Amino acid sequence: MTVPPPVRVRVHVGGIVQGVGFRPFVHGLARELGLAGSVGNDAAGVVVEVEGGEAAVRDFVLALRERPPALAVVESVRSEALPPTGARGLVITGSAVTGARTALVSADTATCGDCLAEMRDPADRRYRYPFVNCTNCGPRYTIVRDVPYDRATTTMAGFTMCAPCAAEYHDPADRRFHAQPTCCPDCGPTLVLEPGGPGDPLREAAARLRDGAVLAVKGLGGYHLAVRADDADAVARLRAAKHREEKPFALMAGSLDEARALVEVGPGAAEALGSRRAPMVLLPRRPGAAVAPAVAPGNRDLGVMLPYTPLHHLLAAELGVPFVLTSGNASDEPIAHVDDDARERLAGLADGFLTHDRPVHVRTDDSVVRLHRGAELPVRRARGYAPEPVPLAFDVGRPVLGCGAEVKNAICLAAGRRAFLSPHLGDLTNPAALRSFHEATGHLGRLFGITPLVLAHDLHPDYLATRYALDRADAEPDLETVGVQHHHAHVAACLAEHGATPDDPPVLGVAYDGTGFGEDGTIWGGELLLAGLAGHRRVGHLATVPMPGGAAAVREPWRMAAAHLGDVRSPVRDRHADRWDAVVALARSGMASPPTSSVGRLFDAVSALLGVRDTVTYEGQAAIELEQRVDPDERGTYPVTAGDVLPGGELVAAVVEDLAAGVGTGRIAARFHHGLADATVAAVARLAGEHGVGTAALSGGVFVNAVLLERVRAGLEAAGLRVLVPTRVPCTDGGIALGQVAVCAARM
Ligand code: ZN
Ligand code: ZN
Ligand code: FE
Repeated sequence: MTVPPPVRVRVHVGGIVQGVGFRPFVHGLARELGLAGSVGNDAAGVVVEVEGGEAAVRDFVLALRERPPALAVVESVRSEALPPTGARGLVITGSAVTGARTALVSADTATCGDCLAEMRDPADRRYRYPFVNCTNCGPRYTIVRDVPYDRATTTMAGFTMCAPCAAEYHDPADRRFHAQPTCCPDCGPTLVLEPGGPGDPLREAAARLRDGAVLAVKGLGGYHLAVRADDADAVARLRAAKHREEKPFALMAGSLDEARALVEVGPGAAEALGSRRAPMVLLPRRPGAAVAPAVAPGNRDLGVMLPYTPLHHLLAAELGVPFVLTSGNASDEPIAHVDDDARERLAGLADGFLTHDRPVHVRTDDSVVRLHRGAELPVRRARGYAPEPVPLAFDVGRPVLGCGAEVKNAICLAAGRRAFLSPHLGDLTNPAALRSFHEATGHLGRLFGITPLVLAHDLHPDYLATRYALDRADAEPDLETVGVQHHHAHVAACLAEHGATPDDPPVLGVAYDGTGFGEDGTIWGGELLLAGLAGHRRVGHLATVPMPGGAAAVREPWRMAAAHLGDVRSPVRDRHADRWDAVVALARSGMASPPTSSVGRLFDAVSALLGVRDTVTYEGQAAIELEQRVDPDERGTYPVTAGDVLPGGELVAAVVEDLAAGVGTGRIAARFHHGLADATVAAVARLAGEHGVGTAALSGGVFVNAVLLERVRAGLEAAGLRVLVPTRVPCTDGGIALGQVAVCAARM
């Protein structure tokens, strides 16, 4: 009997394979199959050479693809045959900085069960250690300065591993094998409470929170402000200090059971809350939930998340009650993430700091999701999700940077078939957010080895992101710029995440939002577009009305009511009797009153009419609070005249009539939502038939509205259409950069 000759292959594995325990996995796999060889990282991913029997080598290559570690996303496995060398054993090599930098940095990940067990075990050397992590969990994107992903390129570079940690790190059989941020109480970051107290910082911090203190707590992507959720005085004090009059605060519950005492944890919610991404989930508040009124005024939902760092777990366990954990900033500034800056900015807001000495390299907010039919509907995409790429169904050709919009900016850098969306960066009119925007354009490019050749931007000439694109192209003549219409970008973002290519037939895009630069000199925001990735045609829209005072009408929704009502008597007119006639005259004059087809502004008008919101303190507030008022038992709707131009005025007139007849706010709010949804469905179904289209795509910030989204989707499905809704990127302007990239690439 002859022994078959050994074979040797070199395998390149691409995707999210660094910092996710891939090398230990490969090591274990090779040992299991009796193979010899080597494994290491290079800038493009993981490189393995194995040698042994042909069948074992084949099984090995198959397993790389079919059962990778939990956090890995294997995108490619390429193997080439090599002459056998007769080598024995398996060697794990260091990183080599050669070749293209396409290795992916993964997102920050919530503490895993194994690490939690160690943290709770009095016999473990990491007992109660707030920075325990391993290859399956812990900080990633927020601590990475550069690639390849190794400890030296992270903010853990300053912590030298102790002997036991180094032994784990170098042991291929250990869970912490090559876990770059690994550490322990002897060698890792230290928790401090400032001002300090007599005892353990954690117990002392919990004691102060229990007594009503506001503490700044350093998390993964920056500082939060914490206060116990049931302490009305403390919450009110925090709200006053933040100058954040009404925007809801996020809550952290120590466990799923604690969360269940606050909110209805319906289908999909437990999975979302407990996922490794650990987003804040907006869920219906339970009657009697022990939450101070000032946590989320005017809102029947609460934003809840579970602990996602060991520090949060320890603090929550010590405190024993849910606590507010809102971003550490004043009003609408970005979250503070640099220690000195945080100390300065939060000094007036917090009574103390629970902080540590592991630097945060990239500011990252908490992600926010709602649930739609049990699946995540992204509202804000940041920690836990970014910078994981959105896979594209086509190659973008020349690398593109999508510069995004203005208020909820995020940028998107794409090369090949991957689109890297930055975390939510915030409102660019804020200087700190604008700095983050500039940093992100450089950092994403460095991390993923992408140098954009084309800049895609909004058509709005005054958006700072548009100016950035045009200025940069002026300075770098090799750069091309491509303007992309705002609502086309919204629809394209939805198409791109659902695997559309430039060759696909057009769909009927429904883009409903607050504001976007139109192509006809009006402000768009209620658009029915016959759209593919490369082009679009406006085939329908909400009827235009003047926005009296322009931007002032966005801050003061009652002005939109005035634009609709004119001389019609109503309570909202009585509330603003002193300025009503002037605003109506302004609207009629057309002066400083740009016409708009925005659905957001229609919501504003109805919200003011019903006395829900006359003025707002944050974007979308009037619409959000109107949705909260919807009576779920109401079945009525408002019929409107069918046509390509949706008569929003008929809906307003129906509201006025019901109001005069004494119908309750909840029922009117429901009928308005239903009427708008039904009119949308009728128009889209008819247009789809007319243009021979079988698919509709819903996008734009208005579709964060769960009542509207469900009814439009259900109606279109009943009409036989396939309906695409955003599942990976927000339907808000936070997703628009992906659409810009897709449109731009499709055109080239
Ligand atoms: Zn872990
Ligand atoms: Zn150690
Ligand atoms: Fe928009």
